[in-house]
Amino acid sequence: MNSISKPLLQWFDQHGRHSLPWQGNPANIYHVWLSEVMLQQTQVSTVINYFNNFIHHFPSLAVLANAGEDTVLAQWAGLGYYARARNLHKSAKIIEQVYQGVFPDNIKQVMALPGIGESTAGAILSISHNQNHAILDGNVKRVLSRYHQVKGHYGQAQTLKQLWVLAKQHTPNARNNDYTQAIMDLGATLCTRSNPDCGRCPVQQGCLAYQHKTQAEYPSPKPKKNKPSRSITMLVYQNKQGQVYLEKRPSKGIWGGLWSFKECEDSSQEVLRTIQQFDTNAHINRALQPIKHSFTHYHLIINPVVVDCSEQTRGFQSIRHLKVGVPTPVNKILAQLD
Ligand code: SF4
Repeated sequence: MNSISKPLLQWFDQHGRHSLPWQGNPANIYHVWLSEVMLQQTQVSTVINYFNNFIHHFPSLAVLANAGEDTVLAQWAGLGYYARARNLHKSAKIIEQVYQGVFPDNIKQVMALPGIGESTAGAILSISHNQNHAILDGNVKRVLSRYHQVKGHYGQAQTLKQLWVLAKQHTPNARNNDYTQAIMDLGATLCTRSNPDCGRCPVQQGCLAYQHKTQAEYPSPKPKKNKPSRSITMLVYQNKQGQVYLEKRPSKGIWGGLWSFKECEDSSQEVLRTIQQFDTNAHINRALQPIKHSFTHYHLIINPVVVDCSEQTRGFQSIRHLKVGVPTPVNKILAQLD
């Protein structure tokens, strides 16, 4: 099999992205690691601002390891998939304690850190140390599925295995770091999810999807399942100073470790019971616009209700000077209070 690496590297030299904020020369492994974790579920254009802000607050791995979890989550808020931030923070602590603050350069040790799979570990060591590893992130899966017309969704073990074999076959020993960046760039800029720009693609010649005009059929779509919906009421307790009550969520589960309103089942009986438990003198002021938030497995419908409380101050925070991380729907509710 002819590797795509030669034409891809030639294209990368001219058209690849060479000035992303985490692309230092030499590469800073802390920056590479952070960017790879942020890029796991998020596009480059969104990541850039979050990355710069994060580095501003946590300029080194040691600073990150010594920061409090709330401080870390506050800088991640809005980026979603918060387990990534908690794992990043846990990993920083492990690296400080076990590896004396030096990011490991052995792939098994990197993969043993919380939240890092084979592809992310490979990308980190390839980009920062030019080690010879293959990667298989979303971009690479898309490129290889089209190039080889791989049938089946990559959520299926068999398809994933096939894609790993292909990824390893294409990955060159020389300039491994550039190739890793190049194939990610190809997927992000030309071999995009819809309307791939095959006319400018450096690997067009060998691409089966291009030859058979089947680009839209690959990667095979995920078998459809209707997502269920769940609805809850969020109780926006407000005191006389206009502050709102927020509590820290458990570290496991949705929005783990972030701060949110109290919530309960979406029934008037349950709403009244929960309010009474919180403050016997509280009363409902008004309902706000419902918010729909979609997770991977279900949709969450949030019905926010503003509740006026008596003289309480404990646990209440000023909206304008929030120092804790809150999930996106909570931010949307806070915006409705302004
Ligand atoms: S030719 Fe088109 S479909 Fe094939 S890899 Fe290039 S951009 Fe993707």
